[in-house]
Amino acid sequence: MESTLSIIKPDAVAKNVIGKIVDRFESNGLKIAAMKKVQLSQADAEAFYAVHASRPFFGELVSFMISGPVVIMVLEGENAVLKNRDLMGATNPKEAAKGTIRADFADSIDANAVHGSDSLENAKIEIDFFFARREIL
Ligand code: UDP
Repeated sequence: MESTLSIIKPDAVAKNVIGKIVDRFESNGLKIAAMKKVQLSQADAEAFYAVHASRPFFGELVSFMISGPVVIMVLEGENAVLKNRDLMGATNPKEAAKGTIRADFADSIDANAVHGSDSLENAKIEIDFFFARREIL
């Protein structure tokens, strides 16, 4: 059993497709162990994406992530980290496989609907960043 962090980004929240995205997870064997809708502050977004601080798109990524509320979840299940990445599809929706969340709901490489932890190690760090143990059930 693994846990991973998922974020429905501001573009997808604005499109009113929270339920459709959550259904992808539940229909594919992942359980929602924690869930909350949050308006990230600039400090939150900068800290969460600190690994990308030196990338040219960092400023725009932070601005985008604070442009509206996000929905943050802990997903639980067998191979949850990889399963979530498969369900998400490639970072650039133009390259995302048919039927993936990004192919169906994302507009561009920056407004790409969802975040998902890319390793078990990062999943633990990201879950701890957003959730207290008592919020994960
Ligand atoms: N991103 C961007 N421009 C790029 C590459 C990435 O705006 O050229 C954003 C995009 O929102 C992406 C996030 O930065 O989801 C993190 O990038 P990463 O390469 O880790 O992609 P992911 O793990 O989200 O697929």
